[in-house]
Amino acid sequence: MYIVPERAIADLMTRKAAFDAVEQVFAAMAAGDAYNFPVVREAIGHEDALYGFKGGFDRAGLTLGLKAGGYWPNNLEKRGLINHQSTVFLFDPDTGKVRAMVGGNLLTALRTAAASSVSIKHLAREDAKVIGMIGAGHQAKFQLRAALEQREFDKVIGWNLHPDMLPNLEEVATEAGLPFEAVELDGLKEADVIISITSSFDAILKADQVSPGTHIACMGTDTKGKQEVDPELLVRADVFTDEVAQSISIGEAQHAVAQGLIAEADVAQLGAVINGAHPGRTSAEQITLFDGTGVGLQDLAVASSVVELAIKQGIAIEVDF
Ligand code: NAD
Repeated sequence: MYIVPERAIADLMTRKAAFDAVEQVFAAMAAGDAYNFPVVREAIGHEDALYGFKGGFDRAGLTLGLKAGGYWPNNLEKRGLINHQSTVFLFDPDTGKVRAMVGGNLLTALRTAAASSVSIKHLAREDAKVIGMIGAGHQAKFQLRAALEQREFDKVIGWNLHPDMLPNLEEVATEAGLPFEAVELDGLKEADVIISITSSFDAILKADQVSPGTHIACMGTDTKGKQEVDPELLVRADVFTDEVAQSISIGEAQHAVAQGLIAEADVAQLGAVINGAHPGRTSAEQITLFDGTGVGLQDLAVASSVVELAIKQGIAIEVDF
């Protein structure tokens, strides 16, 4: 088997490789060639940790495996380690033998950024110029960096509950040679594309704070109870997601569905747009919303891609197992 340690990932994995892997696996999911296994997530009663498994099988890409890991809230303070910890295990689908063990921390950030980026490629207006961010934490920087590669943006605007974190967004904008402006939520009406990536449990963005023609990627809501936007926005928008079952139970659509404002059938798979089975955006006035809940197959796709890169570059550690 091969081992690709966490420390090797940054030099191996590119945003382009993550984008391609995620785009392909979303397409395979919509074609019925790939499926996610039920997610296990447990409070283990030790160190306040949440631990679990996200797995799946992609018959088209021949990727089988799982991501094991979770959240250890005391890591940083007690041990100087990051709180999110995960490892991906890949198996040979022909034999069941373990193929690789891959550090999953940076890969999680890259695959999440790739998801909103894939949604922008397929759903945002071609002439999008202003990108708006809601959220300015660790993941926001990854989302923004990847998004900026999808359109010829000329300005970044942003809002965050904690304004002291906004320099994180300004840093990425400056890196890309773009101006950054902090705005109030009403100011997001100027945005052609909006990404929300927060830990919020209440709607932040109101439906009337979004202009016609905007594409929104809601990326923070990945658990029951979390929420970033007004459910009314999901009524106004055409709603797309990575996986419908997750979208309506733990994603942003959970609230609009629970309130009877939209039905499961109103949520389409982004993969269907990639495959050409769904038209996606059909007008310049339409609001499109991507509910990115995060699926195990995304993790497996980027891990499989990084293993191939590591083998090619002679960096993968081979062990007899
Ligand atoms: P972080 O702790 O670095 O940043 C949290 C962000 O949320 C900050 O901008 C903070 O100001 C904001 N925030 C915190 N509490 C808030 C509240 N009550 N109302 C509004 N904003 C609030 O976290 P991160 O690593 O950037 O992750 C952000 C979110 O993205 C988390 O909720 C995480 O679970 C989620 N996430 C989703 C996926 C996915 O695949 N969809 C993947 C990774 C992370």
